[in-house]
Amino acid sequence: MLKGKAAIVTGSTSGIGLGIARSLARAGADIVLNGFGEAAAIEELRRGIETEFGVGVIHHGADMAKPAEIEALVAACAERFGGVDVLVNNAGIQHTAPVDQFPVDRWDAVIAINLSSAFHGIRLALPHMKARGWGRIVNIASAHGLVASVNKSAYVAAKHGIVGLTKVVALETAGCGITCNAICPGWVLTPLVQKQIDALAEREGIPPQEAEVRLLSEKQPSRAFTTPEQLGELAVFLCGPAAANLTGASLPVDGGWTAQ
Ligand code: NAD
Repeated sequence: MLKGKAAIVTGSTSGIGLGIARSLARAGADIVLNGFGEAAAIEELRRGIETEFGVGVIHHGADMAKPAEIEALVAACAERFGGVDVLVNNAGIQHTAPVDQFPVDRWDAVIAINLSSAFHGIRLALPHMKARGWGRIVNIASAHGLVASVNKSAYVAAKHGIVGLTKVVALETAGCGITCNAICPGWVLTPLVQKQIDALAEREGIPPQEAEVRLLSEKQPSRAFTTPEQLGELAVFLCGPAAANLTGASLPVDGGWTAQ
């Protein structure tokens, strides 16, 4: 379905981004991986996706906190694959602290990586999409783009920002063959969430398995994690013909979290 399309997935060396990159590759897209990690491990991932799905895959190590590096990332995709057809803004970090104790440098980093990076990616990728009259932008927001939790001021502000940005870009691209949507996952068991489970286990003096159950039962009525593979399949759907008129939406995949 996506054969001949080039997709950038930011933050795709781990977790949700990796799941989405694999699903897009399975659907036939050439992939630009991005994210941090050990060079040999990244090369193994890159080659693995390339051989498993028979598509072109490159890795670009842009730091999504740095606009000049985001520009180089988009340019690398255009140079290697002749354009940019799909942009998945996924890179993200978390930091938790009460707002009056929130470290200023962590606030700046969360806003830069979780919100401003999407603005830069979109502004740089859109001319390529407009040139071909087709494009798909998928922003990975969060249940925290729709509701709040304590101690997550920067994350919740960034994710609400992403939901707003999604709507504006959808309006500005309506009728141009381009759509822009946000996916709002609840809990997904990735390294980002594992850190929060470990912190809860340590704080409460309970085993990690019990912390996992407690984390889920506090917020997610299904009491099951969403998987990166499920989010990958949703991203593929958003890139497909059935979703051509689906734009400006923020789609919760949260086991009922935001239905409460
Ligand atoms: P993760 O920690 O497993 O992966 C994050 C990825 O982003 C990694 O590839 C990492 O190298 C990359 N990254 C981090 N900082 C970067 C930077 N400055 N420049 C480039 N790459 C960078 O996290 P995840 O859970 O897969 O999260 C991915 C996205 O999904 C984030 O935006 C997160 O907010 C969102 N999300 C996650 C959950 C969840 O439960 N895991 C829920 C809702 C939303």
